Amino acid sequence: MPNESPANADRFDVIVIGGGPAGYPAAIRAAQNGLRVACIDEWKNRDGSPAFGGTCLNAGCIPSKALLESSELYYRTQHEFAAHGIRISAATVDVAQMQKRKSTIVRGMTQGILALFKGAGVTPLQGHGQLHGGKRVEFTGHDGARRSLAAQHVVLASGSAPIELRTAAFRAPHIVDSWGALDFPAVPRRLGVIGAGVIGLELGSVWRRLGAEVVVLEALPDFLAFADQQLAKEALRHLKKQGLDIRLGAKVSAATVRGEEVDVTYSDGRAEQRLTVDRLVVAVGRRPYTQDLLAGDSGVDLDERGFISVDEHCRTTAAEVWAIGDCVRGPMLAHKGKEEGVMVADRIAGRFGEINYQVIPSVIYTAPEIAWVGLTEEQIKASGRAYKSGIFPFAASGRARAMEQAQGFAKILAAKDDDQILGVHIVGPLAGELIAEAVLAMEYSASSEDLQRTIHAHPTLAEALHEAALNVDKRAIDTLNR
Ligand code: FAD
Ligand code: NAD
Repeated sequence: MPNESPANADRFDVIVIGGGPAGYPAAIRAAQNGLRVACIDEWKNRDGSPAFGGTCLNAGCIPSKALLESSELYYRTQHEFAAHGIRISAATVDVAQMQKRKSTIVRGMTQGILALFKGAGVTPLQGHGQLHGGKRVEFTGHDGARRSLAAQHVVLASGSAPIELRTAAFRAPHIVDSWGALDFPAVPRRLGVIGAGVIGLELGSVWRRLGAEVVVLEALPDFLAFADQQLAKEALRHLKKQGLDIRLGAKVSAATVRGEEVDVTYSDGRAEQRLTVDRLVVAVGRRPYTQDLLAGDSGVDLDERGFISVDEHCRTTAAEVWAIGDCVRGPMLAHKGKEEGVMVADRIAGRFGEINYQVIPSVIYTAPEIAWVGLTEEQIKASGRAYKSGIFPFAASGRARAMEQAQGFAKILAAKDDDQILGVHIVGPLAGELIAEAVLAMEYSASSEDLQRTIHAHPTLAEALHEAALNVDKRAIDTLNR
């Protein structure tokens, strides 16, 4: 920086450590608030190139959605186009081109962050950051050069890493995590997936649609145990119909690479079972990542599960040190981290900032998509609160039928006493887009009557929410009121 002493160049109002979807929005909002900001990020892609964007942009949300889109298009040529009267004699899969498209999207998005930083005036620093006492940050560039930085406020946004199983340790290219499964250069003939969670279902779907035989081993006896069980049952039915072989109550005891194959041993509660696959993906959750982040004198505490301890406003145990995103409690979702980043940056600037943790949407990008917000029917029942339920099947939606995607339903749960919407659960076409209306409604504490009286364009998928709201009071027009 011209005309500035080195000491000044190394002093910031805010230093953000981690440039994923939690950290980079925190840095941009802090700069928008007129503060002098640096964002440190150490991510390197497989080719050694550094990139902002963290897991989400480089190895998570964006590359997975790119492959989900490509594989879905291929699947539809095989299973849906004929119904539209479109005959394709020989659609073939070019995995190299799919991967190239995915990488181009990722590169564009991650380079976009540098452009956003430039526009907002954030100083990007690529390398490792470590927090010491007194809000001093040791920065080590990728070239090994070290700088001692100081800040008024430090925001920790170091993210998460995949959990490794002792019984199925990663051994690329045969036993891989989600990043490995996003980078397969060819469609495996037989793919095993441990964990029927969000990653297992999304990546299992990608490779199944492209022709792999996919077996998903899930330890729990219930499918999507954390979701509304009516929703989960409907989703399971559709995913099984697509050929995903989902085995519940399956506890893996060993996975061994033998030549080009992986032998998996698991118990299904009755007997020991064996499965041989060509590739095995382990997707059993993620853990907070804080390696070499905190020096002994940082004053920042971790909880018993390794998350950075924070209060409801993301303050850590050290004054003026904050933590956001996957490295703190709450769902590991990009949009949750982003809102925490914005809240913290606004609070640092003395502005208002709050998060409504009750109204965070979840989306699983399978086909049909699965999305929800608020409480499940099981949670409401357990709370003892009296409730009403409205449901609308996409089979009765003209738009869904026209799209040849009339599967699933929208379901609204509302309180019996004051009609407030308590939860919305959708399995169906573009459920991830439709849920936004429910999120907004719940953010404003809407009643089902509010949705009933809101005009929805016809014919749209969103009408399913309108009709589900009407069905809460058994006044739906386009479905039988049961
Ligand atoms: P991260 O994205 O992990 O970013 C943390 C960054 O900090 C990284 O770049 C890391 O290198 C850097 N870092 C860590 N320590 C240091 C240090 N000491 N110094 C410098 N830099 C450091 N979520 C969704 O909401 N929607 C989705 O569709 C979705 N799909 C996903 C698909 C997959 C396959 C995976 C794996 C995850 C997906 N997620 C999705 C989850 C989402 O990616 C995470 O919730 C999100 O990335 C968390 O953001 P974060 O900024 O907290 O952490
Ligand atoms: P997850 O928590 O969603 O699912 C893990 C699954 O593995 C669970 O069903 C669990 O019961 C099962 N499991 C755990 N141990 C097992 C074992 N030993 N054997 C068999 N099954 C076992 O975790 P994930 O799918 O790895 O995803 C990690 C995180 O990334 C999640 O928190 C998720 O929110 C996030 N993510 C989000 C999206 C999205 O929003 N669309 C997509 C991908 C990932």
